[in-house]
Amino acid sequence: MKSLADGMNRILSEGALTVLRETKVLEKKGRSILHFEIGQPDFPTPGHIKLAGIQAIENDYTRYTVTEGIPELVEAIQNEIKITRGYTPDLEQIITLPGGKPGIYLSMISTVNPGEEIIFPDPGFPTYGSLSQYIGAKSIPIKLKEENQFRLDPLDIAANISSRTKLIILNSPQNPTGSVMTKSELEHIAEIAKEHDCFILSDEIYSKLLYDGDFYSVTTPDQASERSLLLDGFSKSHSMTGWRLGYLVGPKSLIEKIRTLVVNAFTCTSEFIQKAGIAALTGPMDSFELMMKSFRERRKIIVDGLNDIPGFTCQMPQGAFYAWPNITGTGLSSQDLAHYLLHEVGVACLPGTAFGLGGEGYLRFSYATSIDIISKAILLIKQAIERLEK
Ligand code: PLP
Repeated sequence: MKSLADGMNRILSEGALTVLRETKVLEKKGRSILHFEIGQPDFPTPGHIKLAGIQAIENDYTRYTVTEGIPELVEAIQNEIKITRGYTPDLEQIITLPGGKPGIYLSMISTVNPGEEIIFPDPGFPTYGSLSQYIGAKSIPIKLKEENQFRLDPLDIAANISSRTKLIILNSPQNPTGSVMTKSELEHIAEIAKEHDCFILSDEIYSKLLYDGDFYSVTTPDQASERSLLLDGFSKSHSMTGWRLGYLVGPKSLIEKIRTLVVNAFTCTSEFIQKAGIAALTGPMDSFELMMKSFRERRKIIVDGLNDIPGFTCQMPQGAFYAWPNITGTGLSSQDLAHYLLHEVGVACLPGTAFGLGGEGYLRFSYATSIDIISKAILLIKQAIERLEK
């Protein structure tokens, strides 16, 4: 076979999916595994959303739609931005996509040339670094510091930005640390981006999963009309990971180009899924409130439990559903400890390094699982660490 495109040698997979595959092999051999590796709500999609999808199929909403999405959905997204971000984007600033991830891919390939620089958090969602390499861009990972509660420090961005910087990627609430940026930090970063004339991609997929205070978007200062792109979706907030539905809001001329890319790559998002999306944005939020209540309870149990394990310390995450303990006190690397816990006691979590070099010394636990499983896992980890110490 002829050699593949060069970019194929630079693109990386995702740690969560690699560990999931490993657990499947162990489960096939009869091992029972407690799962903390995958970042998706363990709640079903709310009933009214499922029903809207089913009815849409029965009513034959099964054809191509306009690329940006059916007008009712685009208008519902516009209204959602007005309510949650405080500004009303024009309809031409919005495009519906099959999931949040395509929004990362499309934003990155449409703004950055090979050799230009991309700033992103480290640890951070692995796609940012992987796609940066794929594009042939220069990655500028910015270390998130524990003493700053893992919030990206605007001064660190200012110290690393250059005339070659094209894109700054932000993610608040953050995967994997659960940190939430403050309004003043985000305003400061918007200023820095303006001064240096670069784009911002704000990955707001966890915008609703906030334990205290109101959400603030870095796209508010320019209303996503000049340099900032807002990415959000339905996967986490509406338990719709498998439906594949998300959207981008950005400058009109950029969204128009992204629309052309979508025309060439996948035409549009499935019509009946868009119908379900309208139900999600316009329907009741009581299932979401129950889910958040449950995440809040689990957050306390897992963080208290992890802090009780010798060699572990864990801050309280402010958003999303991930606990990010510092495990340097165990004396093991995050890779070795994650491997040990999986094989010794069947607890599957992710090594911090799955999120970049800045993740060394940490593990990520997704607590989108039952209190019973969390309590069992904490006990097993504690016993495994005690055995390690002997
Ligand atoms: N952005 C972040 C920070 C995520 O954690 C995820 C999923 O884990 C995504 C984007 C992707 O979302 P989706 O499943 O809608 O593609």
